[in-house]
Amino acid sequence: MAGEPQADCLFCKIVAGTIPATVVRETETTFAFRDINPQAPTHVLVIPKVHYPDAASLAAAEPGIAADVLSEAGRIAADEKVDGHGYRIVFNTGAGAGQTVFHAHAHVLGGRGLQWPPG
Ligand code: IMP
Repeated sequence: MAGEPQADCLFCKIVAGTIPATVVRETETTFAFRDINPQAPTHVLVIPKVHYPDAASLAAAEPGIAADVLSEAGRIAADEKVDGHGYRIVFNTGAGAGQTVFHAHAHVLGGRGLQWPPG
């Protein structure tokens, strides 16, 4: 069923606690943890606890939870003190755009200069 945990999903396992993660924050609807391969001094992933394969399908089915993911991203940027200089919220969507884990997630990247456009 849409939104249900998927047995073969890495991020569903992190939400369930069966794969360890360095947890940053948790809310009723979201879970945030440090990226295992950080690309910036701050690199946190914010995910919905429900399973949708990408941000667009999450937003279409559960717009309130998609908004929760975004507001958590902003809250974490402030907590990590990267909001003053500027930071980036990234939703890679589709393999061709670099998505490797097909459970919706926002990357929160900050703490260094960020180039535009990204590669
Ligand atoms: P994507 O490439 O946009 O799908 O982002 C997936 C992210 O998950 C990558 O930045 C990976 O480094 C990260 N990642 C993969 N496995 C783990 C893990 O077990 N813990 C934390 N982050 C992970």
